[in-house]
Amino acid sequence: MKEKGRLFIISGPSGCGKDTLLKTYFDRHEDVEFSVSTITRPKRDKSDDEKYSFVTVGAFKELIEQNRLLEYAEYCGNFYGTPKEPIEKWISEGKDVLVEVETVGAEKIKAEMPEAISIFILPPSVELLKKRLSGRATETPEQLEKRLDKAIEEMKKSVFYDYIVVNDSLEQAAEAFERIILSDRQKTERNINFINEVLKNA
Ligand code: 5GP
Repeated sequence: MKEKGRLFIISGPSGCGKDTLLKTYFDRHEDVEFSVSTITRPKRDKSDDEKYSFVTVGAFKELIEQNRLLEYAEYCGNFYGTPKEPIEKWISEGKDVLVEVETVGAEKIKAEMPEAISIFILPPSVELLKKRLSGRATETPEQLEKRLDKAIEEMKKSVFYDYIVVNDSLEQAAEAFERIILSDRQKTERNINFINEVLKNA
């Protein structure tokens, strides 16, 4: 019998570099599924298409009513949600799954699935975070300020996560991230069926 897969929850403030980190991971590995979130925020740029499916607020509310979201949260005036069905399917097939959510969503998933592993991506400093955020130029100064306040509020929640990855050097952060996933796969609880199989004819 195949072991169940693991859900990895990734959070980190806007500007911490988590998109680049995740892209680096997925460029190197094909053994983890990525959960595409359903969101109501207007599209920012083309790279959004890989991460998100865009819906109206009405359509989002229907998903909530139909209980089709594992979690959802409002973030800076828009809704973000994690579709439930694909995650349940992948986990039951033994696949590891990565969801990228803000801290409220992470808390909701942990409450529902305590076995999920949570990882917080921290920038090395608030100064660097400010620099990265203002370098984006896709938001108004008010939106930027709102995101910075939110980022600091979120960083205070990092203490509740299972792991911290500091994104200072991309290469080191990518390695740390990879090590967390690899060592989790060696956990005894993820290998019980294999142990039983080995001992079957002992
Ligand atoms: P952004 O608008 O910058 O793409 O994302 C804003 C925040 O929403 C980020 O912290 C991102 O991790 C989070 N986010 C993305 N997808 C989801 C989701 O499905 N659920 C929740 N709760 N947060 C999400």
